[in-house]
Amino acid sequence: QCIAVCPTGALTSPSKVNLIWKKLYDPEVKVVMSIAPAVRVAIGEEFGENPGVVETGRLVAAIKKLGFDQVFDTCYSADLTTWEETTEFLKRFTKKENLPHFTSCCPAWVKACETLYPEKIKNLSTCKSPQAMDASLLVHHYVEEQGIPRDKLFIVSVMPCVAKKFEAARSELSTNGYQDVDAVITTSELAKMIKSAGIVFNELQEESFDIPYGLSTGSAVIYGMTGGVATAVVREATYLLTGLRITDIEMSPVDGFPGLRSALVDLPDGSQVKLAVVSGMGNVRRVLEALDSKQLEYDIVEIMACPGGCVGGGGQPLPNEMKQRNKRMNGLHVADTRQQIRIARDNVLVCELYDKWLKEPNSEVSHQYLHTHYHIRPTETEIPNS
Ligand code: SF4
Repeated sequence: QCIAVCPTGALTSPSKVNLIWKKLYDPEVKVVMSIAPAVRVAIGEEFGENPGVVETGRLVAAIKKLGFDQVFDTCYSADLTTWEETTEFLKRFTKKENLPHFTSCCPAWVKACETLYPEKIKNLSTCKSPQAMDASLLVHHYVEEQGIPRDKLFIVSVMPCVAKKFEAARSELSTNGYQDVDAVITTSELAKMIKSAGIVFNELQEESFDIPYGLSTGSAVIYGMTGGVATAVVREATYLLTGLRITDIEMSPVDGFPGLRSALVDLPDGSQVKLAVVSGMGNVRRVLEALDSKQLEYDIVEIMACPGGCVGGGGQPLPNEMKQRNKRMNGLHVADTRQQIRIARDNVLVCELYDKWLKEPNSEVSHQYLHTHYHIRPTETEIPNS
């Protein structure tokens, strides 16, 4: 059944590429783009490279050549998500409330939860995804800081995933009737734009993201693969509880449950965090049933609809088989280990954002702009135009 492939029904979603071109040619509009973690290890394939080559610098250069005014990194918002989600998880863990805590970064899983497992909605993290946090930040904070009227800023995300178009069209992620993300394009759609502009990608000189939303840690780049969100949250929680910067969490496959891996993380008071990671929508039902029957027990469960996580999203270059996905995952792993800062709490520019605007994780301001809510949805899904 097609819902097992893409519960958002966004596989045939229309493209907004023509609208983006129009905005790029409008001198009165500032056009910004934010790049999701998984895009950087796949875009090179469109230009003859092997899967997994980290092409962040040339990707930024290509986007600037296309005419975008500023290029931000969705990884910055992934660090912000980790700050918010870890605080939320630790509150639930301490009170033993709404456990297991389910991650909410994958809109295909969130939509499946709202449609097929509405009794689990209370267990979903209320944190917006990094794409949605990024846009909220631009719409509510950046425009004020820069003195730009909202209708003169056009916000584009490049995502590995067509389900992210559905996410951007959710009414909860709009302000004054306008979507916070104006347009979402996939890795493949961006590659087509670069080719049609005659840009020779392989000959570009690397460029850097724009500040302040361009700095991120190793914990952020791994959001692009299965296990990344849960690892980032556990790194952060361990640091907050022990002061130790633990970066490697050994996860093992769980017998009898394809696509499920788990780990135990020791805490200083002798307790343990039981963490699990589910990869592939087809594996979710059995895991949820086993959690209901107490055959399995976890405190935090990350669910990503695509096997391998976002590296294997439906908007990535073809072929998009496990062979390519594994290489892209390896690329993200290399990007994480090469980072000097690998715990979200060490991102000084996120820290500055809290000082200036948000105050502290899960504050009233954070809840207003960085958290969302969910509701029961019918199976039939509108095809969004995002
Ligand atoms: Fe999109 Fe797949 Fe990532 Fe979910 S796992 S956000 S569907 S690319």
